[in-house]
Amino acid sequence: MSFSIGRLTVDVVSDGEFRLDGGAMFGMVPRERWEKWCPPDDRHRIRLATHGLLVRGEGFTLVIEPGISGDVDRDLFAVTKVPTLEESLAGFGVAPEDVTDVILTHAHFDHAGGGHRFPNARTILQELEWKAMCSPGLLHNRSYRPEDRPSAESLHLVSGEAEPLPGVVLRLTGGHTPGHQIVVLEDQALFWGDLMPTVHHLSPPRFMAYDLTPATVAKMKQSLLAESAEKGWLNFLYHELDPTPRRIEAEGRRFRFS
Ligand SMILES: [Zn+2]
Repeated sequence: MSFSIGRLTVDVVSDGEFRLDGGAMFGMVPRERWEKWCPPDDRHRIRLATHGLLVRGEGFTLVIEPGISGDVDRDLFAVTKVPTLEESLAGFGVAPEDVTDVILTHAHFDHAGGGHRFPNARTILQELEWKAMCSPGLLHNRSYRPEDRPSAESLHLVSGEAEPLPGVVLRLTGGHTPGHQIVVLEDQALFWGDLMPTVHHLSPPRFMAYDLTPATVAKMKQSLLAESAEKGWLNFLYHELDPTPRRIEAEGRRFRFS
């Protein structure tokens, strides 16, 4: 599935599936509801995708979210690595050395873990996220892995809104993590990161137990849903099993996928 978005060619790539506790993924939502959307396995885990993006523009080859660490507890997280991100990129004729830029929405292991696979790429993330990654504090200690830190040579920090590549705009949202950011492509598409991990997290109050500041997640989501509906953006969701991007419609103060 290739999408022509302004000057950019955008493809959904994958680093395979993994699983997380269903209750943790749905925060305050009662199990009676979420288990109908995402049936848990016998260890109470639900299936999640790692659907990052390959974005090609004039003079650059960008990967948004370089995938999941290969050396996490594969049994606990049921990491499949089918396909690996390298295999997925190869399907589009892209080798790891060809990648010039990597964007991390945030630095948790299921998003930032694969960055070292791209020897020539700079790694773009928010300065606040880099600080959080280096001194995670008590709550996120296990989600930030020292092994996932970009090398000093590849590190490219931004603060707040930035356009590190033509047509690729980063916006700091916070909420899920201190330096979480989303990516807007040519003012026509939105990569949500963990602000909306799956289609079942559309409603602003549906947050994850992993979100550091749920009120910020809800507020940011409400305003981005409104902007996305108004501008007719294509929406890409990293953890959603079905990689098809969707559009959002407003229905009064509420939103739905169209
Ligand atoms: Zn995640």
